[in-house]
Amino acid sequence: MAKRDYYDVLGVAKGASADDIKKAYRKMAIKYHPDKNQGDKEAEEKFKEAAEAYEVLSTPEKRQRYDQFGHAANASSANGGGYGGGGMNMDDIFSQFGDIFGGGSPFEGFFGGGRQSGGGGRRVARGSNLRIKVRLTLEEIANGAEKKIKVNKQIICKTCDGSGAKDKSSFQTCKTCGGSGAVRRVTNTILGQMQTTSTCPTCNGEGSTILSKCTVCHGDGVVRGEELITIQVPAGVSEGMQLSMSGKGNAAPRGGVPGDLIILIEEVPHETLKRDGNNVIYDLHVNFVDATLGTSVEVPTIDGKAKIKIDPGTQGGKILRLKGKGLPEVNSYHRGDQLVHINIWTPKALSREEREILEKLQGSPNFKPNPGKNEKSFFERMKEYFE
Ligand SMILES: [Zn+2]
Ligand SMILES: [Zn+2]
Repeated sequence: MAKRDYYDVLGVAKGASADDIKKAYRKMAIKYHPDKNQGDKEAEEKFKEAAEAYEVLSTPEKRQRYDQFGHAANASSANGGGYGGGGMNMDDIFSQFGDIFGGGSPFEGFFGGGRQSGGGGRRVARGSNLRIKVRLTLEEIANGAEKKIKVNKQIICKTCDGSGAKDKSSFQTCKTCGGSGAVRRVTNTILGQMQTTSTCPTCNGEGSTILSKCTVCHGDGVVRGEELITIQVPAGVSEGMQLSMSGKGNAAPRGGVPGDLIILIEEVPHETLKRDGNNVIYDLHVNFVDATLGTSVEVPTIDGKAKIKIDPGTQGGKILRLKGKGLPEVNSYHRGDQLVHINIWTPKALSREEREILEKLQGSPNFKPNPGKNEKSFFERMKEYFE
């Protein structure tokens, strides 16, 4: 594909001043910036084309050669100045921006956030993740819970709005990298000159340095503080589970990205109910008279009390299943059951009268244990339980 004339690309006249060229390129760079035109191949090509044109026309000796010989002049010097031949890569383009937009943090202002590039270029600070524990009762786990928690963490310094500087004039464009946040190094290899880009060591890739620091945060842009955070815990969570709230961790200075808040779930043990996955287990003790004659009893459940019937002749070890009275699964409509495990309670102390009554019953044929075929074995009950 034939290259367009560099002056046409930027839309300036042949004799345009350096300032006009810069202004023209600024406009193009903003218009076709990839952050604004995501996935738009044509915009990307235009963006690259403009960068290449600017690279040549902004360098006096390259511009002179271009004026004299056109594109042909530059093709032969592809390994020389990082233009011509293969065009420019995105990192090169972004590292140019410092001198085009000038000032402390040029790009954030235009596009609401810098770019994170691998090798070099402007680097965005990231706050660290924060971990907290949240203790929940079984009832809260069953229904889901909203927890308001005061979290002690790094917050943006209000005095300097996170910039770390005393005021706007305290910013100075980094002298080492000229504000781009990246430094280029040219090394000679047998293949010719190689250019590498790395993060500027002076400003740590931020592109600017601070002359006088904010007196509250001492230049950090963040201070220790408290934030009241509302956490929506979904129903069905369990001990050891981790939830993550993006952006609710420690704040980052100078327009950076805050870390995440990691919430570790802890269960407060219930007084009478035990959790087994999504099921809830309750140990019910029934005395042998009730078990023999039958009765109805109240048992606790997560949703409050429930009445259950004990049939006459109920044997110890029987498991009653209360359908749907267990815990929900996270992000599902399925709910576990409550399993009521029946234990036969044998009295330990008796009055004389009670003793006399029982002595009359002792030896009666009906009181002789006689587990027939209808009685479920321990293994059968276990099998049923684990279904
Ligand atoms: Zn401050
Ligand atoms: Zn720098």
